[in-house]
Amino acid sequence: MTRIERTGHCLCGAVRFTARGEPKWVAHCHCESCRRATSAGFATYVGYRADAVAWTGEAPRQYHSSPGVTRSFCGNCGSPMSFAGDRWPGEIHLFAASFDAPGALKPDAHVYVEEQLPWVRLDDGLPRIEKNPQ
Ligand SMILES: [Zn+2]
Ligand SMILES: [Zn+2]
Repeated sequence: MTRIERTGHCLCGAVRFTARGEPKWVAHCHCESCRRATSAGFATYVGYRADAVAWTGEAPRQYHSSPGVTRSFCGNCGSPMSFAGDRWPGEIHLFAASFDAPGALKPDAHVYVEEQLPWVRLDDGLPRIEKNPQ
């Protein structure tokens, strides 16, 4: 049996990760917090069991963006690296864009679309969820 393993890294390459197995889900988040955390129109997350992801290279720095929410980033280049929240126990959410092969990931849905920016136009036919994906 072949074990799937995906790798990724921040912009400068100091922070690296390896994710084992298939992700639990892949979703585009349109909420304001994720837009601010990434300075982007929306953020595409890849959800894994926390124990399936190993940091290699430098450990990312952590920041609590709201109670129960931990975001991490590269202390050198500032690339956002992960999200973990009490509402998703045992999970870590990586960013699709930091994978070495982001094109191989298949998004499942859009979440928090009630906060989607009016100039973001997406016609991918994926499910659109108003708020929380769960
Ligand atoms: Zn970096
Ligand atoms: Zn969000």
